[in-house]
Amino acid sequence: MKDSVPVPTISPVTLATADPRAAFTAHATEIREAIERVLVSGQYILGPEVAAFEEEFAHYLGGGSSIGVANGTDALELALRAAGVGAGDRVATVANTVSATVAAIQQIGARPLFVEIDHATQVMSEQALAAVLEAYPSQIKAVVPVHLYGHPANMPAIVELAARNGAIVVEDCAQAHGARIHGRKAGAWGTLAAFSFYPTKNLGALGDGGAVFTRDPGLAERVRLLRQYGWRERYVSAVAGRNSRLDEIQAAILRVKMRHLDTENARRRELAAIYYHRLAGLPLLLPAVGAEVEPVYHQFTVRTLEREALRHELLTHGIAAVVLYPVPVHHQPAYADHSARLPETERACAEVLCLPCHPGLSDADVNSVCDVILRWFSHRP
Ligand SMILES: *Cc1c(COP(=O)(O)O)cnc(C)c1O
Repeated sequence: MKDSVPVPTISPVTLATADPRAAFTAHATEIREAIERVLVSGQYILGPEVAAFEEEFAHYLGGGSSIGVANGTDALELALRAAGVGAGDRVATVANTVSATVAAIQQIGARPLFVEIDHATQVMSEQALAAVLEAYPSQIKAVVPVHLYGHPANMPAIVELAARNGAIVVEDCAQAHGARIHGRKAGAWGTLAAFSFYPTKNLGALGDGGAVFTRDPGLAERVRLLRQYGWRERYVSAVAGRNSRLDEIQAAILRVKMRHLDTENARRRELAAIYYHRLAGLPLLLPAVGAEVEPVYHQFTVRTLEREALRHELLTHGIAAVVLYPVPVHHQPAYADHSARLPETERACAEVLCLPCHPGLSDADVNSVCDVILRWFSHRP
């Protein structure tokens, strides 16, 4: 081939927005011991490790019940089903999320109703929720706020609005393990909460995993039935359930990882502080933090109109910044909703860029990302 267009040199990726292997190696000895304990126990599904993890995780969230399930999507689905949300019901949620949030709603035959986000924090806007609740009187059975990037939605306002309109609240906590609002953990505000333990989450397993959390013992019992064939008593289905179990090896690993969660979240906040300090003053929107919110920086997400150019510049330096999420759910083929009017959500999806921010990174790593960004802005006309 002659006269080929010069291809820009792209360094091999050295920094990414998640590093599941580093998350393992940081605690390798403890994790190997935990796995070995399960291997020799002879119990591999819903045994003592799952029971212990459920208790420890519920305690971590301030008391209540946690029920281990197969993944975060199932956690959302089973939480909604346990609360009686079903076919034809409306569920208010946001569109700047992973499609799993909406898949769970559709799985039970319910219909998503997309709510606009807050401009600054990019989580569900309580004003927009109030308007939607008013527009669909007594039709909305549940509200599913998503604590995006580790920044909780305004739960005091959302819980109050939902209660006033007879809707339950299921928090999507897949990105917010350990985050707080007014000192209370994300997950401890809604009627129920759903967590994912996908390997790249702040609390990640080495495989799939999830949990439902609730302070309502009746709902906890229903989720427990639903996750295993509706069995209250072995081999007798009290309700129509399904199989969504957490296995012993993942639970044992999660018990190890949970002991380090607060330290690792603190480390994420330290790295975020470097970004805030070094990137201040650039024409780049840094993540806003709501009043009385302690975020856990699942992602450190900046916004710029030149998102694609900056992303490419970072990639040429071996830095893989990612876009979460490039296509809002209401624009995805499977969930297209042409009636949704969500300009703020669409703008966010066009401008967001997640920079590497996880406990496997050093200060120098984050500084090197900042160097590239600062140099890029300073060399532009
Ligand atoms: C990861 C994630 C989920 C889905 O969790 P899985 O364990 O992959 O099913 C749901 N919602 C949000 C916001 C997530 O980030």
